[in-house]
Amino acid sequence: MNVPALQRLLAELRSSGIADEKVLGAIAAVDRERFVSPTFAERAWDNTALPIAFGQTISQPLVVAAMTEALRVGPRMKVLEVGTGSGYQAAVLAKLARRVYTVERYKPLSKEAERLLIELGIFNVVFDVGDGSKGWPGQAPFDRIIVTAAADERPQALIDQLAVGGILIVPVGRDPTAQVVERIVKSESGLKRDTLMPVRFVPLVTGALPVLGQG
Ligand code: SAH
Repeated sequence: MNVPALQRLLAELRSSGIADEKVLGAIAAVDRERFVSPTFAERAWDNTALPIAFGQTISQPLVVAAMTEALRVGPRMKVLEVGTGSGYQAAVLAKLARRVYTVERYKPLSKEAERLLIELGIFNVVFDVGDGSKGWPGQAPFDRIIVTAAADERPQALIDQLAVGGILIVPVGRDPTAQVVERIVKSESGLKRDTLMPVRFVPLVTGALPVLGQG
């Protein structure tokens, strides 16, 4: 682990408003360098999104930190992540939650993330391949749900699979230049929604997989 680079990133996250020490601790406990290709190893601790396979991205650390903070994850919680990608966000969540369920539509990304997390000694993450916009009905309800791809509109299936008292964090917006992260809180009396921050995510793609990703 590149400790000076990590310390610089943590300082940057703090000065950008991330205050939850548990979230900062989880970020410090996951070596981001392991989740990017060797080509980008030198930039692994920069506060930027980086490319991964299949034209996807590992999210910007500040976005991971802000969305994780907004999710308010507790140690006994069951969390669903839609969009495994590199597995980095899942690894961070795994440090905070009891169990993380993560869904990815590209099988090779899911398999690689699963292999890496086991190698890193993270055993409380369960992987599935498929359309995560439909959630994971067999494991619902979830205390927390986080979507790490941008949805055209609020995914109803995920709202349905949220426990009472649950929080859903989802980037919403068709236009990549006008996406915002929304937080939806479910209570006995209904849903409450607020907007957290502008973001730029790869799209949440529903329906069939391209041939390339079926390997
Ligand atoms: N959380 C990831 C970020 C990945 S980018 C990380 O920490 O690296 C978003 C990911 O969502 C991509 O890998 C993309 O393939 C995946 N994705 C897009 N639509 C999806 C869907 N409907 N179901 C599951 N995964 C999806």
